[in-house]
Amino acid sequence: MMETHKENRRCRYCDDRIPETRNKGALYCCDQHGWTFRNNNNAEERAKIRASEPGLYKNRKILKDLIDKGISEISKKTASCLGFDFNCFTGIIKTDPLLKTTEYKLFEYSFTVFGDLIKIKKIVI
Ligand SMILES: [Zn+2]
Repeated sequence: MMETHKENRRCRYCDDRIPETRNKGALYCCDQHGWTFRNNNNAEERAKIRASEPGLYKNRKILKDLIDKGISEISKKTASCLGFDFNCFTGIIKTDPLLKTTEYKLFEYSFTVFGDLIKIKKIVI
């Protein structure tokens, strides 16, 4: 029983056995591996946010500029040319199984793709 427990004490970074001299709750074989493991994880998280946030804010600005000009419909091609990324949204408002459309939420705006057209509007939160 004790032997099994000891064998389970392996470093989360290098998978080596954690020396008996380490604290009872130690997750790493040495401090260096603890720091490296945690830094790698943080870097991954930061990279994920960096990848998604600029796209969301860029999309939001595109919708805002159009709506401020009184535009509520543009072609998909025009949206793409403006740099709109259809994969960047903050949620799904509703899907219409009959029309096969989905209304996507993008902060306080929404957009729905109808074939070659996208309809955009400001939503009340
Ligand atoms: Zn290690």
